[in-house]
Amino acid sequence: MEIKIAKELGFCFGVKRAADMTLAEVNGEVINTLGPLIHNPEFTKFLETRNAYVADTVGDIKGKKVVIRAHGIPKETEQEIQENNIEIIDATCPYVKRVQQLAEKYYNKGYSVFILGEKDHPEVIGIESYAPNSIVLKYEHDIPDLPPESKVALISQTTQKFKTFDSLACALKKRFKNVAITNTICDATEKRQKAAMKLAKEVEIMIVIGGKNSSNTTKLKEICGQIVKTHHIETEKELKKEWLKDIKTVGITAGASTPDFSIEKVVEKIKSINTPALTA
Ligand code: SF4
Repeated sequence: MEIKIAKELGFCFGVKRAADMTLAEVNGEVINTLGPLIHNPEFTKFLETRNAYVADTVGDIKGKKVVIRAHGIPKETEQEIQENNIEIIDATCPYVKRVQQLAEKYYNKGYSVFILGEKDHPEVIGIESYAPNSIVLKYEHDIPDLPPESKVALISQTTQKFKTFDSLACALKKRFKNVAITNTICDATEKRQKAAMKLAKEVEIMIVIGGKNSSNTTKLKEICGQIVKTHHIETEKELKKEWLKDIKTVGITAGASTPDFSIEKVVEKIKSINTPALTA
């Protein structure tokens, strides 16, 4: 059996940076991450072995340092941490930071700030805090009834779709005279999806690795599942021998929150079931 690995998979730049920053801080002392650093239970357990524990709220922080995860936090939460004299290790992804700064800039210049995104997503909640009264929207019909001469700015949650952003931008240009548009979408998710789709067309079965609560991993499973038989697993322990029976090519992909060690363990397990030639 041949094992094929997707060209783009696993940790994106921002998540890898956050993981590296956290690991650089764990020198025996207890530290906290505000919320799970990534949506991957295996990685959360791994961090616990290094004395890095999840704190769900600022009140839960037990250590002297707290890591801010890649999708950032609201301004007020940052202030609360500072007031409690807790040192901040800011692992907010620089791409997310840029969106927060743009939100603040446009707000200060008197624009109505529109954010394309999911209302309840922590990244969006963080961005909103930089532009009070900003409007989170997804579709043209969500655009509020403002006078045509209003100054409006459009930015986006980093993981939104380019197509949706373009449609909204067009709709805003038609409705308002003064529109500032900055595409703040990061292409890490799209690259992983395209690579997974390409690979799914070349193999007989796909294995998608990542947390069951990771939305980008679930999306990869959905995309591959439309092309070929696909299984979503969190760890190598969930692999079933019968999935690989009579299979000649298996494809592997993983969500942006899946650590390399999880991917490697799955590959090793498949190798132990068969003796494949590994190609990338
Ligand atoms: S998906 Fe993009 S914006 Fe989000 S953490 Fe990863 S690199 Fe940063």
